[in-house]
Amino acid sequence: MTDFLETFCPECDMGVRASLREQPATLRVRGEEIDFTETVALCPHCGMEIGDSRVEDENLEQAYAIYRARHGIPSPEEIRKLREFYGLSLREFSRFLGFGEQTVYRYERGDLPDPTHSLVLEQAKTHQGARRLLAKNRKRLSERSIESIELALSTHAEDLHWVRPLPSKLEEQTADAPSTANGYRAFDPDRALALMRLLAQQCRDLFWTKSQKALFVADMFACACRGRSLTGLRYAHATHGPVADGREELRYLLAEAGIVEFCECDWGEVLEPGKPLANDPFDEAEHALIDGIATFVNSFGTAREISDFSHGLDCWRNTEDGQVIDYADAAGEVAGAMVARMPGLGGLVG
Ligand SMILES: [Zn+2]
Repeated sequence: MTDFLETFCPECDMGVRASLREQPATLRVRGEEIDFTETVALCPHCGMEIGDSRVEDENLEQAYAIYRARHGIPSPEEIRKLREFYGLSLREFSRFLGFGEQTVYRYERGDLPDPTHSLVLEQAKTHQGARRLLAKNRKRLSERSIESIELALSTHAEDLHWVRPLPSKLEEQTADAPSTANGYRAFDPDRALALMRLLAQQCRDLFWTKSQKALFVADMFACACRGRSLTGLRYAHATHGPVADGREELRYLLAEAGIVEFCECDWGEVLEPGKPLANDPFDEAEHALIDGIATFVNSFGTAREISDFSHGLDCWRNTEDGQVIDYADAAGEVAGAMVARMPGLGGLVG
């Protein structure tokens, strides 16, 4: 891949603009092989793989996210939400669960909960389980914490919706009200999968990060032209451009459904269309729009060029890593930049 990262090469002993390449990788998580797309930073001078912690952390996070999704293990965010539900500090929440004092801290920082702890966390999500934990670990808790737990449980005695498994990042987005964060549409997994398949079908060399940029411009352009995004996906700033917030889960969904195939090639993984869809969620006008987007994506000779395009956008430059790129700030700018590059798209606007 031809994205770049300003970093330091220990071999050359100087700051370099490393190129980021994606490649299929397998990581053993708890003895299980997890296939994912890893990013490696390569020194442009000596060619060495640079161990930049930003890239490495993201790789680990991707593999963990897939493992978590596969085993229903709560994410750091879900654990934090559960703790906040009970109104407890990290230490008190650890005690409530019967863990070591630093354990919840580690889990909220991204460590993978061990299987026994995962089961306890599951219990803490149910009314009955939480009562059992409180009875068992009561002596370790402060009066204030006990009150806080009792209050949370009594307030939700009738209302048990929180007892369901905590939603993952994408599932959570399906429940969001239409807003400027999702382009006025709650996230629709069927639409996202269908769009990915259409893009994989029509775009040349659709690498994973390139696919993220293609999704981003598609949703932003649709929002500018038709007042709504195509998929309801939320986008965030990543080092190498805009990405779907929850992209690891999206990749997992695509692979599981067999909608898109990830094919190895010299430079990484390319998305190819997989199984046909049972239903077509898009209307005729949306298909015309998607065809236009594919032509736009194909107008870039190299992945580097589309990367430069996204790096030139204020909505990416003015946001920080992980920050959501709001449609209200981005849709008009993205559509304008697209039409400036490819005037033919102007016919789809309005
Ligand atoms: Zn070097």
